[in-house]
Amino acid sequence: MSKGPVLFLFLILGLAGNAQPSRIILAVFAHPDDETTIAPVLAKYGEYNQVYVLIATDGRFGVTDHAGIDAGDSLVKIRNQELACSCRKLGINKPIQLGLPDQLGSPEGMGAYFSHLATLKKELAKVITDLKPDVVVTFGPDADSGHPDHRLVGIVTTEVLLKDKWPANLSLYYFSWTKQQADKFPEWNLNYTHQTHLNTKISFLEKHEEMSYEAIRCYQSQYSEEELDRWIGRERADPLNVLYFREFATSKEIREDF
Ligand SMILES: [Zn+2]
Repeated sequence: MSKGPVLFLFLILGLAGNAQPSRIILAVFAHPDDETTIAPVLAKYGEYNQVYVLIATDGRFGVTDHAGIDAGDSLVKIRNQELACSCRKLGINKPIQLGLPDQLGSPEGMGAYFSHLATLKKELAKVITDLKPDVVVTFGPDADSGHPDHRLVGIVTTEVLLKDKWPANLSLYYFSWTKQQADKFPEWNLNYTHQTHLNTKISFLEKHEEMSYEAIRCYQSQYSEEELDRWIGRERADPLNVLYFREFATSKEIREDF
């Protein structure tokens, strides 16, 4: 058989499992475990696309009572393993880690902060240039819990992308909880966006949700067994397997008045 029919057959088989051709999806977050916010969606897209998670900080200050691990290098090592475990369970590529300190070194003063901020911008721009993603997902202004690192990473990702003209294929999405979703976890005091501002609704299957639970269970240093069970139990009890995003869009039309 010549190569033509074989290639055609592969194309048909490939498209049969997925309505869209394979795309490159880059999710940019602050801490190892932030990707759990959209884990079922990452698992879903990981089946037929190249999905990458970029984590800006090394999570060295993520100390918890139940784990009893001191802040610093030993915690960083464990959190790196947990992040790698999470990406494996979600069926996506190995994580991209910039390894910057939590809070971008701001406790050391503004000099340290601006220096790490410059590294974040440079490294993020390099990853975007190299990967050429079709889709970039990050935190919007509500930023999950509103942690300053979450907000910073969302804003800096937007800033880096806005510095250049975008290739025609590129889209930027902000992840947000709805009020109903945030209310599932009152103890976390999650932020939310009104549903009228969320223009992208992505559903996922039970199997993707199960993969997300496996990923969540990687984070033993961050959550006790009891917390993990409660978290997963509440997600299981939620029949709506949907996450919401807002596409960042600018008008092409130049206006001369507000
Ligand atoms: Zn976080």
